[in-house]
Amino acid sequence: MEPIVLGPNQVHRFYRGGPAIAEFRGTRSGDDHAPEDWVASATSVFGSEGTGLSTLPDGRTVADAFRADPEAFFGPRHAERFGADPGLLVKLLEAGERLPVHCHPGREFARRHLGCLYGKTEAWVIVEVRSPRPEVFLGFRDEVDPAELAGWVTGQDTTAMLGAMHRMPVTVGDAVLVPAGLPHAVGEGVFLVELQEPTDLSVLLEWEGFDIDGARDGHLGLGFDVALRCVDRSGWGKERLDRLRTPREDGRDARPGRDARPGVEVLFPLEADPFFRAERIRPRDASPLPAGFSVLVTTRGRGRLEFLTAGSLEVARGDTVLVPFAAGDCRLVGAVEAVRCMPPDPDAAVVSAPVFG
Ligand SMILES: [Zn+2]
Repeated sequence: MEPIVLGPNQVHRFYRGGPAIAEFRGTRSGDDHAPEDWVASATSVFGSEGTGLSTLPDGRTVADAFRADPEAFFGPRHAERFGADPGLLVKLLEAGERLPVHCHPGREFARRHLGCLYGKTEAWVIVEVRSPRPEVFLGFRDEVDPAELAGWVTGQDTTAMLGAMHRMPVTVGDAVLVPAGLPHAVGEGVFLVELQEPTDLSVLLEWEGFDIDGARDGHLGLGFDVALRCVDRSGWGKERLDRLRTPREDGRDARPGRDARPGVEVLFPLEADPFFRAERIRPRDASPLPAGFSVLVTTRGRGRLEFLTAGSLEVARGDTVLVPFAAGDCRLVGAVEAVRCMPPDPDAAVVSAPVFG
């Protein structure tokens, strides 16, 4: 089975963005509210079945292709644990304006209230910044009590809400893990690769000034009394917060001792493994990539994926490639940089309590 180059799949949303994605991919941008490109997606937009699904060059959806041969796409261990479910959604995301403060349910909440196996722990790898002060908002500095939070949301007191959150400056190459429940907002002009659990579940804490009726559509149909129970209201000190972030390193493994390979940097802490894994690949000569399902996003330069059994493939900035397990071992060569997005580690313990709790 050979690797598959995937075309654009931009999705219309209520917030601005999209031109940076089109530029990245070398396509034309028609919609200035298409800020997300769902890559190798077997996930639908919440409440809109079918929207968001990726299709292959042969016209099938990737979801159908996965169902036809889960072992070839994912390998035996993943297929045994997750079947034909990739357990992962990858997006290109451009915040054309600061996103509203929101959060996502965890697995336990999603199972109990939404009949869904997955929550939406997510993570970002910053690809480009188009703002003099690129930043993200992440977590409350001090614990917020439920009545105060409900008051901010009902009264849309976004000044108080944003004022209570950490502002984290970000730069190209940074990687940030966002555990389910943690309130967050990506700042204007930040373009990133997002890895997340394969759902579209969001609770909006802010909507004033955005093209959405949050009072009606911001609580997943649960009402805010229930929906706000998924919010992590705890205080995040600087040290706890810093553990979520992996600053850009110089090609060294951020988790030394774990499978160190030249030019390969592991991007997220161990706590991310039950949700997804990612590596930044910057070959000095050639970087070996062992067989495994992955979505490769080429972020810089130009190079070549060389497979032991499936030939080779030229890749350049903006290319997204679905690499099936059955394509076998390969290596990336050339003056190129890529983010290799991988599904959950099937052997990692499932964390249902908040990580870093
Ligand atoms: Zn989010």
